Amino acid sequence: MKLVILGPPGAGKGTQADFIINKYNIPHISTGDILRENIKNNTELGQKAKAYMDKGLLVPDNVVVEIVQDRIVKDDCKNGFLLDGFPRTVSQAVSLDAELDKLGTKLDRVVNINVDKNILIDRAVGRRVCKTCGATYHIKYNPPKVEGICDKDQTPLIQRDDDVKETVETRIQVYFDQTAPLIDYYKAQGILLDVDGNQSIDKVFEDINKGLNN
Ligand SMILES: [Zn+2]
Repeated sequence: MKLVILGPPGAGKGTQADFIINKYNIPHISTGDILRENIKNNTELGQKAKAYMDKGLLVPDNVVVEIVQDRIVKDDCKNGFLLDGFPRTVSQAVSLDAELDKLGTKLDRVVNINVDKNILIDRAVGRRVCKTCGATYHIKYNPPKVEGICDKDQTPLIQRDDDVKETVETRIQVYFDQTAPLIDYYKAQGILLDVDGNQSIDKVFEDINKGLNN
């Protein structure tokens, strides 16, 4: 099962990714995690990536493509993999297809979690976090026992700077603008699996699972 997962920020992509890798016994390949890991360990790749990120630039395609190429030939990818955070653009998708073609294989499905923009905004704007233990809450959907206070350590909860409405709206719009061509690309290949992400976490996974077995 060679998969890609797509979804806007706040769509619950991480949760669904966890369900998928456990069910299908494939590794979760998150390019963001790999980059952060390399930067933390100060590897050659990490230094390369950090130089761009420090300037506020995106890590260029060729660097990210190289990471993915190296990763998908590892032994644990024999049964497949779940790519997360890559590809982000059509040009990256073309590179990925070419690489898989060289390996004599191709992507099976691209899971695309769709969530209404207003719901995404609502989810992000209501999020509160605890600086002490990292716990996250939501003022409507997952409130703490005492308003504004962490259940575990009684730290006052805060709203992250990037969870204010304007920032959230921009973040979501950037995602949609960037991925729309990518979604068309996979739709044209007939491998896009659209899933309604406005439903409960369990129902979303049920739909993903059904779609992957079709
Ligand atoms: Zn806490």
